[in-house]
Amino acid sequence: MNKTRRLCLVLGDQLSFDLASLAGLDSEHDRVLMVEVMEEATHVAHHPQKIALIFSAMRHFAQALEKQGIQVHYVALDDPQNSGSVPGELKRWQTLLQASELHVTECGDWRLEQSLKACGVPIHWHADGRFLCSRDEFRAWAAGKKQLRMEFFYREMRRKSRLLLNGDGTPVGGAWNFDAENRKALPKTVKAPYPAGFANDAITVEVLALVKHRFASHYGSLEDFNYPVTHADAQALWAYFLDYALAGFGDYQDAMASDEPFLFHARISAALNIGLLDLRQLCADVESAYWSGSIALNAAEGFIRQLIGWREYVRGVYWLHMPEYAEGNAFANQRPLPEFYWTAATKMNCMRQAIGQSLKHAYAHHIQRLMVTGNFALLAGIAPKQICEWYLAIYMDAFDWVELPNTLGMVMHADGGYLGSKPYCASGQYINRMSDYCRDCAYSVRETTADNACPFNALYWHFLMRHADLLRGNQRMAMMYKNLDRMPPAKQQALWQRGQQLLDTLDNGDLL
Ligand SMILES: Cc1cc2nc3c(=O)[nH]c(=O)nc-3n(C[C@H](O)[C@H](O)[C@H](O)COP(=O)(O)OP(=O)(O)OC[C@H]3O[C@@H](n4cnc5c(N)ncnc54)[C@H](O)[C@@H]3O)c2cc1C
Repeated sequence: MNKTRRLCLVLGDQLSFDLASLAGLDSEHDRVLMVEVMEEATHVAHHPQKIALIFSAMRHFAQALEKQGIQVHYVALDDPQNSGSVPGELKRWQTLLQASELHVTECGDWRLEQSLKACGVPIHWHADGRFLCSRDEFRAWAAGKKQLRMEFFYREMRRKSRLLLNGDGTPVGGAWNFDAENRKALPKTVKAPYPAGFANDAITVEVLALVKHRFASHYGSLEDFNYPVTHADAQALWAYFLDYALAGFGDYQDAMASDEPFLFHARISAALNIGLLDLRQLCADVESAYWSGSIALNAAEGFIRQLIGWREYVRGVYWLHMPEYAEGNAFANQRPLPEFYWTAATKMNCMRQAIGQSLKHAYAHHIQRLMVTGNFALLAGIAPKQICEWYLAIYMDAFDWVELPNTLGMVMHADGGYLGSKPYCASGQYINRMSDYCRDCAYSVRETTADNACPFNALYWHFLMRHADLLRGNQRMAMMYKNLDRMPPAKQQALWQRGQQLLDTLDNGDLL
């Protein structure tokens, strides 16, 4: 075999033709290496659909690169020589190909990046240009700030990208943020679009069989695999969203409805995170839809805020504070994750719906993650590491850089309020307002201390009482504590007892 000049490693979430490390590749002297490894597929028990998505998209991407004349060395999971880890494969192929240079784009996972840095071969690292804000730029923005606020970062990104700005640099519509207009519940008369469908080609069928055989012990169903695995299909999913769902996204972003897993959401996070879609194009398309008059400003701004605001912000926080960030546990939570997170076997209808669809589709939308499964974990005092592992395992789009800050910071407030100014804690009333889940629930959302009372209710007050020392001084929690203080002591005591009883039930492993 000829000596290789440059060996470029492309990871499973780096399937972009314009990946920094692929730039300037010489098809005669350079090679691309792609590897399916057990270590990445099993460091948490990833949902089988997620493993299938990544392996199938990798295989399609390798083929597409080869069609462009690039020489790709592809190591399949079942290859007998496969060492099982990314660093192991990089070292093996460097030796085999006698590569003079190894090129890698920044990883999405601190753990993997460290193991590559420690594997004993010199690597040329490339910044990941698929994000609007580089790690260094975020570091500079955050320097000297004790607490970060997404809103201010978002404004910087709006200015930088010039999205939805007037000629004089002011925001279109006179405000940066139309969040207050993104909170409507779904009226019975409004129907969400039928989700776009994707047929499985021979590559995906082969991968599904492999995953079924090798990852049978992982939680989650393979049956309903329905995701794009190529750039073309990802574009089709995106076009479908623009045509049929974006207009409703603005109003119903926070809504939840029984047996409606996707509502007006784009379902693009997995495709975007693995490189099948391009952030800048998505934002430009949404802005164009606004200027063309086909969508309202609350839809356009709301969507762009998620992409250049939250998504970039959580990535910045992750790289700024890893590895310490993962150790955060401000409330000193110790409770193990209840078994029903893996099975959906719970009498709480909202939890059954959110967990059930997560097992079925490896998907739940933001409010289900934040205000149902996340809210419950926060109120019940689940150990942050266990709930983070669940989110990382169960969702198609979950990669450490985006999952960890969302779960540990936004949901669990385990970073002590660094990422978000207050915990997103809520009683069953919020879920009732934003969904139809409570209608068909074994528990009553109107009750607080009765045996059939919605567990979210007493757990909410128990959480506020339990952590009053940490939260009472928070201005944004003032109204909640005012409501608590207004309650007669006997009511407070009854809520505490009911909350304690629910926590004991969890600790005994009994059904809730
Ligand atoms: C506890 C928790 C864990 C999460 N874990 C992940 C994760 O592992 N991977 C992931 O991509 N998103 C994660 N999110 C954010 C969000 O829930 C998903 O991006 C979204 O549900 C994906 O579905 P969609 O493509 O239909 O999104 P839409 O609702 O249609 O939103 C559009 C896009 O905005 C981006 N976005 C929206 N909110 C966020 C956010 N908070 N952080 C980052 N990007 C955002 C996503 O790229 C998403 O595709 C998490 C949120 C919470 C509360």
